[in-house]
Amino acid sequence: MSDLVKKMYINGEWILAESEETYEVINPATSEPVGVVSYGDDRDTAKAIDAAHAAFKGWSQLTARERSKYLNNLYELIRKNRDELAAIMSAEMGKPLGEAKFEALGAADNFMWYAEEGKRIYGETIPSSMANKRLMVIKQPVGVVAAITPWNFPVNMLARKIAPALAAGCTVVVKPAMKTPLSAIRMFELIEEAGFPKGVVNLVLGKASAIGREITENPKVAKITFTGSTDVGKKLMEGAAKQVKRISMELGGHAPFIVFEDANLDAAVQGLFESKYRNTGQMCICTNRLYVQESIVEAFTEKLIERLKNTKVGDGRVKGVEIGPLVDEGSLNSVMAHIEDAKEKGGTIAFGGNRLTEGEYSKGFFLEPTVITNVTPDMKVCYEETFGPVVPIIPFKDEASVIEMANDTVYGLAAYAYTQNNSRCFRIAEALEYGIVGINDGSPTQTQAPFGGFKESGIGREGGHYALEGFLETKFVSFGI
Ligand code: ADP
Repeated sequence: MSDLVKKMYINGEWILAESEETYEVINPATSEPVGVVSYGDDRDTAKAIDAAHAAFKGWSQLTARERSKYLNNLYELIRKNRDELAAIMSAEMGKPLGEAKFEALGAADNFMWYAEEGKRIYGETIPSSMANKRLMVIKQPVGVVAAITPWNFPVNMLARKIAPALAAGCTVVVKPAMKTPLSAIRMFELIEEAGFPKGVVNLVLGKASAIGREITENPKVAKITFTGSTDVGKKLMEGAAKQVKRISMELGGHAPFIVFEDANLDAAVQGLFESKYRNTGQMCICTNRLYVQESIVEAFTEKLIERLKNTKVGDGRVKGVEIGPLVDEGSLNSVMAHIEDAKEKGGTIAFGGNRLTEGEYSKGFFLEPTVITNVTPDMKVCYEETFGPVVPIIPFKDEASVIEMANDTVYGLAAYAYTQNNSRCFRIAEALEYGIVGINDGSPTQTQAPFGGFKESGIGREGGHYALEGFLETKFVSFGI
């Protein structure tokens, strides 16, 4: 049995959990098991933190050029193995294969980009007010980083955290979500193949609360970088506060998507599709509220429904499937509860609304892509994050009122607007209280661009040189001469 159990990667070795517990990973499209992994806890986490701590000196003292060689090796290896990584993601969390391949390439891109950007971590010299002093600022890696990642982008989230942390000279302990440990394990096999020195990157799997506690309480961890729910993020922030650990948090979202009457409607429908239905609506930057100007509500809704009628729902591994299953039954039930709540409060299901249960859908967690109209602000879809392929349509009168509605939320991750009025593009981009704004763009993310939220959507930024800053301390050195 233990030969079948996939292991954790700690200090350059593949090891089983101290607890000897295991965890079975289930394919959400078929309910079939796809693998068994070791299920660790705080004891394994402490080992991994020790390993990362011991490796820190050597890794941080390498030149950026030396570190970049390992990152480039990994870039090549992920690209070479992208089909396999994609197939694993599809099997463990249902992502359509085309999207999964795109994600694997995106993950690779992070290692290539930070391999280069790591060479450009510059300091500064500052003119002194006194003739006998010289002032210098240097940047140094913060130390051991603990990265906690979610299941919705299992490979790219690892890459987005590991690549800049390593480029900055930090060592890392990663805890991926237990719904998606298999793609993380495959990534770590590639990390091993890339030749990283032992202890530089470590993988811990298992009980989230015990691992989280060890990460927050262990003084050897200097920084926590987390992507997940706002609730867990707040808990980690509280824990981190006790030792004033550095934190970066990418939390929940509730993105508004605004379509003005002067928009190119076909482009807006395509943008909405990407921002709402990609990854089966399971993204923190997903559209949650669709605001459409009154004069075009009917035309836009018709076009959207037409697009959805031509969308294939199914097992992510099947060619042509654009919407896969929800990640598990709990997730499906939460989304269904939002639909039921909207119906009870007078909403109309303009399209979809049902769990799919017949034939090819009988064993999985499938939901029809759904459109809700006659929406009122008291419906959960208007203020709680719906993590699934459901969109409520809310008509609006004018620019001022829609900005007010769009900003009326505790979240502030992503927002979208479609309009062909140039002046309005600028006004809207500036007025939306969100960290990421897509103007006539339904998928505004790239490796080199900052990614992160205002308000309760998070703190700090991933992406580009912004991510590197999160893994560096700023040191001021004053020389008396
Ligand atoms: P999601 O709703 O996307 O599953 P979570 O916030 O529950 O979001 O999970 C995101 C990541 O945080 C996962 O890796 C999960 O295992 C981890 N996690 C959940 N609870 C805790 C906790 N108490 N401490 C540390 N990590 C946690």
